[in-house]
Amino acid sequence: MRLNRIFYLFAVLAGFFVSGQSFAWVPIATCNGQNVKWSSSNASMSASGVGFPVGDWRNALSETVSKWYNQPSNFSISMSWDDASVGLGNGQNEVWWSSNFGAPAITNFWYNTQTCTFTEADVRFDNTVAYHFTHTASSLWPYGGGSRPFQTTAMHELGHVAGLGHEGDVYNIMGEDWTHIHANCGLAYAYPGEDAVSGVVALYGAWAGALEELGVANWRRTGVLGGGYSDHSRTRLFDAATGAELPLWSSFPEPVYRVNAGQSVRLELTYENMGKTTPLLADARVYLSTNNCITSLDTVMENFWVSQSRDVPFLTTRTITIPTTLASGSLRWLGASIDDPAAHSESYDNDYENASYIGIRVN
Ligand SMILES: [Zn+2]
Repeated sequence: MRLNRIFYLFAVLAGFFVSGQSFAWVPIATCNGQNVKWSSSNASMSASGVGFPVGDWRNALSETVSKWYNQPSNFSISMSWDDASVGLGNGQNEVWWSSNFGAPAITNFWYNTQTCTFTEADVRFDNTVAYHFTHTASSLWPYGGGSRPFQTTAMHELGHVAGLGHEGDVYNIMGEDWTHIHANCGLAYAYPGEDAVSGVVALYGAWAGALEELGVANWRRTGVLGGGYSDHSRTRLFDAATGAELPLWSSFPEPVYRVNAGQSVRLELTYENMGKTTPLLADARVYLSTNNCITSLDTVMENFWVSQSRDVPFLTTRTITIPTTLASGSLRWLGASIDDPAAHSESYDNDYENASYIGIRVN
C-alpha cells in the first residue's frame, strides 16, 4: 500500500539504485548510494493494545511476523503487544488501526540521511476496510469471498518495514498483496514469496539457521498497476495442441476450465524457492484430484524435477493428458506439488505452500 518517505535529517540527498542488482525486488529508498535498512537485522515493533488485543487479530499479526522470521535472511521483527500510546514520529515502531489516511494500509518511515538507516517505521491499517483474519479461502476476495485478507496486507506492510519498496516486474508481495496468496484444501495463507525473500537476503545477509522453503501458487504477474505494484491473475490451462487458453466452464468463485477426455493440456502454475539453498533441486508431481485439495493420495499424472534459484518466481507449464476414462460432466482439479516426496526440511511444518490447483470440467 501507499508509503511515505519522511526524511529525518536535514538534507535530501540524491538516491540511486545499486547497479548490477540482478533481483527484481527494489529497496524502499536509497541514500548515499546505499539501500535504506535497519542498522541491525532486527526491527523492534509494538502493536496497539486496542487494535490487537489477545485473540484473532493478534494471532494473525503474530503469524505474519513469524513468517518474516522464518525466511532465509537474518532479518526479523520482534513484536511486543499492548502498546497503550501509539503515534507517528514518536521514535517507536508501532502498528495500529486508524482511518482517513487515504489508503487501505500505510507504512510511514523515517531514516537518518547520514547513516541511511531507519529511525522509525509505523504501520497503520484502515479500520473501515473489510479485512478478515480468516484462512478460509472462500471467505477471501481472491477466492470469491467478501473479505480482504488481512495477512497479505500485513505481509506487504512488514515488507516495507524490512526495507522493500513496491515492485512491478514479477509476481510478488510488494505488488498487489491480496492476489499474492497461496491456497490448497480450502485454506489460503499469506507468505512473503520468492522475490521479497531474495530482497531481504540481499539487504541483511543469509541466515545460517534457515531451512528450505518451496511453494506452488495458482497466481501469476499480469502487469503493473499505478504506483508500481505488480498486478496478478490466476494461472491458466492451455490446449497443448494449439497453445490457446482453454475456455472457462465457470469463472466464479474460481476459474474452472472446459477440457475433453483424452485432450493434451498444459497446466500453468508458479513455482518458488524461498529457502536456504540456491539453486535447489526438488522433486515435483502433477496430480489429478477429485477435490481442490492436492495431496499425495491423488492420482499422479507426471513426476518431474524443478531446479530453482532463489531469485524470481518461476511460471511454467507441464503437459499432461486428461484421462479418456473421465465421464462427461466430471468436475476435477489438476494440481502440482513440489518437494514431493518430501526430501527437504522446510520452514513450515505443515508444508501448506507446497501444492496448488486449477479446476477442470470434462465436456
Ligand atoms: Zn505498499
